[in-house]
Amino acid sequence: MPIISLFVNACVAFTGFYLISKVFHSQLFFSSRSRGVLIGMLAGMLGLFLMFNGVEVNEDVRVDLRHLPLVLLAFYGARLPLFIATGFIASTRFLFGFTDQAVVAFIATWFVSLGMIWIHRRLSERLFFQSMLLNVWALFVISIAVLINLGWSMSYITLIATIWTIGLLVGLLSSVLTIDLEQAKRRAKDYKQSAERDPLTGLFNRRVWDRYTSELENENRSSNVLALDIDHFKRVNDTYGHANGDLVLQRFAELLLAETRLHDVVARVGGEEFVILMYDLTPEKVEKVAERIRKRIEDEVFVLKDFPPIHITASIGIAHGKSEPVQKMTEAADNALYQAKRSGRNQVILTNVSELSLVTN
Ligand code: GH3
Ligand code: MG
Ligand code: MG
Repeated sequence: MPIISLFVNACVAFTGFYLISKVFHSQLFFSSRSRGVLIGMLAGMLGLFLMFNGVEVNEDVRVDLRHLPLVLLAFYGARLPLFIATGFIASTRFLFGFTDQAVVAFIATWFVSLGMIWIHRRLSERLFFQSMLLNVWALFVISIAVLINLGWSMSYITLIATIWTIGLLVGLLSSVLTIDLEQAKRRAKDYKQSAERDPLTGLFNRRVWDRYTSELENENRSSNVLALDIDHFKRVNDTYGHANGDLVLQRFAELLLAETRLHDVVARVGGEEFVILMYDLTPEKVEKVAERIRKRIEDEVFVLKDFPPIHITASIGIAHGKSEPVQKMTEAADNALYQAKRSGRNQVILTNVSELSLVTN
C-alpha cells in the first residue's frame, strides 16, 4: 500500500527532523563547525533513507521525500549542513549509474538548495510562509527535473500530481512540527533573557549578580567587586529629560562591556548603579582597569535626542579580597564608592578587604 509506506516514510522523516533539531540547538559541541558537519551528515543519511525507501505508486511512478531534510536545513539557515547534505544526496544518485537522468537530478538537487538559501534569507522571520515556500520551491524544481527526464506524458502528469499532493501534505505537517520546535526554543530564550537581563541596558540584573557572587567566600581565588555610580546623574535627567537619561545609561552599559573581558560579570543593580565582578587581578591591576573605565567614560561623547551631546563622569569603589563573604565585599565597595563621591567624584578608590580583616583580627 503506497499510502501506508509514504506515511511510514513521513514518520521516519519527522523523527529525523526532531533529532536534527535537537543537535542543532545542542550546547554539547566544541565548535559550530563540528556540529554543522554532524547535522549535514545526519540530514544526508536521512535523505538517502528516504530515497532508497521511495514508494512505487504504479510501474512508472516512484515518489520519495528526499528533499525534506534539505528543506529543514534551509529553514534553519544552516548553510554548511545544507551543502554537506546536498552534496551527499545529489552525488549518491550516481550510484545508480552515470546517466543523463542522474546528471539532471544532481543539478536539480543543487538548484533546490541554492534557491532555498535565497528564500530563507528573504523570509527568515515569517516562519510558516517561508516553510511552505521552501517546500513549493523544492517540488517545483523536482517537477522540472522529472519533466526533462521523462518528457510530457500521461505518466508524467500522474507522477507530478502524486508528488505535489504527498509533498505538500508532508511538507505542511513537517512545517508545523519544525515551527513548533523553533517557537518553543525562541520562547525559552526570551524567558531566559527577561529573567536574567535588565531590559534597558541588556546587562545582567541583580538576580544573576546574586547568583554569581553567592559563593565568593568559598572560592580559593582573589576577586574584585567594583561599584560604579554616575556622578550627578539626576542633573542629566532634570536637564535633558528621562528619555535622554535612559540613552546615557544604555551607552554607559555598552562602555562597561567594551572595557571588560567576556568572563567578567557586569550587572545593573539600581537606577544608575552598576557592579562588576573580576577575578584574579591584583589590587594594582584592578585599579588600572577601573581607571581605564573611568577615563573612557570621562572621554566619551554621549549623544542625546534633541540636545547637543554631553560629557559625564562616574565614581568607582573597589573591594579586593580573597574568599571573603559577598556582603563584606559589597559593603566595602559601596564604602569606597562613597569615599570617591566625598572626595570630589570622578575617581577610583580601592579597599583591600583581606588586609582589613588581618588588621581587625
Ligand atoms: P551622585 O553624584 O551623588 O551619584 O548624584 P546623582 O544625581 O547621580 O545621584 P542620585 O542617586 O541622587 O540620582 C540618581 C538618579 O538616577 C535619580 C533617578 O531619577 C535616576 N534614575 C534611576 N533610574 C533611572 C532610569 O532607569 N532611567 C533614568 N533616566 N534615570 C534613572
Ligand atoms: Mg549617581
Ligand atoms: Mg546613585
